[in-house]
Amino acid sequence: MKKEFQTEVSQLLDLVINSLYSKKEVFLRELLSNASDAMDRSRFEALTDKTQQADSPYRIQIVPNKEAGTLAISDNGIGMTAEEVEKNLGTVASSGTKRFLQAMKEKAGAPELIGQFGVGFYAAFMVADKVDVLTRRRGAAPVLWSSDGKGSYEVSEGDPEAADGTTITLHMREDAKEYLDSWRIEDVVRTYSDYLAYPVMLCPDPSEKIEPKKDKDGKELPPEPREPRQINSMKAVWKKSKEEAKKEETDAFYKHIAHDSEDPLATIRVSAEGATEFQALVFVPRVAPYDLYWPNAKQGLQLYVRSVFIGDDVKELLPRYLSFVRGVVESADLPLNVSREMLQDNAVVRRIRKVLVGKILGEIEAMQKDRPADFSAFCVQYGRLMKEGVHSDWENSDRLRDLCVFPSTFSEDASKPVTLKEYVSRMPSSQKEIYYVAADSYEAAKNSPVLESFAAHGYEVLFFVDPVDEFFAERVTEYDGRKLRAADRGEIDLDAADGGDDAKKDGDGKDAKKKEPTEEDKRFKPLLDALKARFGKEVKDVRLSRRLVDSACCFVADEYGVSAHMQRVLKAFNQPVPESPRILELNPKAPVVEKALALATDEKAKDAFGDLADILLGQAQLAEGSPLSDPARFNKLVSALAAK
Ligand code: ADP
Repeated sequence: MKKEFQTEVSQLLDLVINSLYSKKEVFLRELLSNASDAMDRSRFEALTDKTQQADSPYRIQIVPNKEAGTLAISDNGIGMTAEEVEKNLGTVASSGTKRFLQAMKEKAGAPELIGQFGVGFYAAFMVADKVDVLTRRRGAAPVLWSSDGKGSYEVSEGDPEAADGTTITLHMREDAKEYLDSWRIEDVVRTYSDYLAYPVMLCPDPSEKIEPKKDKDGKELPPEPREPRQINSMKAVWKKSKEEAKKEETDAFYKHIAHDSEDPLATIRVSAEGATEFQALVFVPRVAPYDLYWPNAKQGLQLYVRSVFIGDDVKELLPRYLSFVRGVVESADLPLNVSREMLQDNAVVRRIRKVLVGKILGEIEAMQKDRPADFSAFCVQYGRLMKEGVHSDWENSDRLRDLCVFPSTFSEDASKPVTLKEYVSRMPSSQKEIYYVAADSYEAAKNSPVLESFAAHGYEVLFFVDPVDEFFAERVTEYDGRKLRAADRGEIDLDAADGGDDAKKDGDGKDAKKKEPTEEDKRFKPLLDALKARFGKEVKDVRLSRRLVDSACCFVADEYGVSAHMQRVLKAFNQPVPESPRILELNPKAPVVEKALALATDEKAKDAFGDLADILLGQAQLAEGSPLSDPARFNKLVSALAAK
């Protein structure tokens, strides 16, 4: 029966056939990896279903045939039913393939992307102009799937004699005939698939004629039997040294266990000796696993004890904030019959975890130092988890906080964040504290009026625009002996801070309250009082501001109050939101504030004063990203003002 491929598959095949020119050899890695997965699944099924008896031992066979121009790869794994064939080989099911298509869409076929991706089964069409899949699920009818990769495929009944498992026969393209040479096959398997836990057997080419040997009388001797031979070492890649396992092999291993199509961002090998002996090979994926924040996400490493697979997804081996790390740990110090419960409270596991975390952080630190572009990519994917780590991992909190980055008033754009270390290193000597402003977005933070006097003083202000940043600020109250201070909280007077003595008082909200009123305070008192009376409970206080330069007004939080941003964060997390009315600050140098003072002291201008007061209030609310108390009235007032 002839069927059309799903549109995405056709697009993909078109790309595979017409543009994938580099590294064609990865087709074999993809097919062997699928075969290995199929045998894993079969073995697992046999373990859980006691009615099944063990079959002949699992193996992969590769049979080249130069005469027929075919390469056959067969496994005795789980096989597929007709339905599964339809689903797996007619639509885009795999996450790797989906991501490949997405990347192709975004970068419109950027050639450097092509070839990085394995694209799974469909990679077969890089080297073959026709592919046959003969497959049989235990107890089901055999199925033959066949396609030339040009828009459609055929499904029919397979050979009734077919064994359980899958055989993929590639009819090799003219330019891919090199993969029929046994030395070439061996070379590719050694490079990419040496670690596979099942034997990969290379069978002799049945079409190859071997000149029969003759005895001394010239009589032909019977041909020597040619046997399939194993071409992968099956040595666990995590037990190999850096020299033994090259980047190609560890990358291929990563792709296999993480089901990723791209190379990892970082590769970390650990071989620990001493009190606890273990080996580990772990990776940082280039793109965060899609289910990273899901409650049931896979988030652990595979564990082996003395070469025996104990389990995957072993969460105890890493803290939650490193749950994106993929890989394998093997230790001889755990008992073979270790149970999940035992893992939860086990001294060996704890020691492994401690060493592993240290090594992983060390690798990220090295990346930060030596590979800035990779570190930037890391921060985009995992930056928030590092901040979570600061909060949850006390032991490593100091190391982690140096891996946290924030955009700031000094960064060119949101994609160029800075570390606290960089911030401190360029602080002018007059600056005593580290300033930050919390907001919902980079744009909102950048346009916050509270930044004006910081800019005028040449002080950098960090933007806390991720909800976790507020929690970061709760934990990291000081860095390098300098306090972290919200730019929109409490009273800040940078001129006084420059002067020295007053700075101490101002840095501490309690003392600031007792400050003597200045001449300016006295002159504006009627306006401040009138506004307080008008807004009542809606504002906590109205006062003159020392942080504004151009803007007329802004809202700030009380020294110990909850910032507007934090209130929104709590709301978003369905947490109780503490009441915390804002303080309205006015810029005494702004002409409109001067005008408001005049109106406030003019008995006949009551209405005009009320209108202007509400405009100021609305402006302050908009600037901090809070909803307007009365949007309709605010709109009307602004329109009226514009018309004047
Ligand atoms: P991926 O392996 O990334 O899921 P593929 O395109 O390589 O994507 O394969 C799609 C699906 O086809 C696999 O997930 C698997 O279910 C099935 N499949 C592929 N090869 C085999 C095989 N040799 N034996 C059994 N099933 C297979």
